[in-house]
Amino acid sequence: MVALAELENLQQAHELIRAGLRLSIIRGMTRIGTRTLRQWWKDVHGVKPSNGKLPETVLSFIKDRDSAARLSAFAALHQRIFASDLTTTSLMTTWQEYQRICGPLDINAAYFAARDVRVKIVMLVPCQVCNAAFIYDAGSKHTDHCPFCETSVVVAD
Ligand SMILES: [Zn+2]
Repeated sequence: MVALAELENLQQAHELIRAGLRLSIIRGMTRIGTRTLRQWWKDVHGVKPSNGKLPETVLSFIKDRDSAARLSAFAALHQRIFASDLTTTSLMTTWQEYQRICGPLDINAAYFAARDVRVKIVMLVPCQVCNAAFIYDAGSKHTDHCPFCETSVVVAD
């Protein structure tokens, strides 16, 4: 008999597949085998899952002011609700809530935003002018200032 926790795990994996999260990420979060996940993906989407290489950080998804603002808002929402936890539940819940308020968002970008803030690959800092939290990284012209009010801030680390 499948234990309740296991059933929940399977169900969440299925939801994440429907949301379009890449299988290697789902495998890492749920410990469900690649074969099973690939079959489910085909059942849900009608095509084979992508084998392409995943980006290394959230910065690959930040291509302009708009994506910087959207991913900053997602990361801030995730942190506010779940602190530094990152689980299938926290990702799915925050993603659904975000989309309800702000519109469509690639769940893969969302995952990297939450993960990279959590492991401190990027920092989530409050803007000194508009007070919004945003993803700060000195190495990109889209993340070295606040994407909401465009104030440049100096962050000491
Ligand atoms: Zn600002």
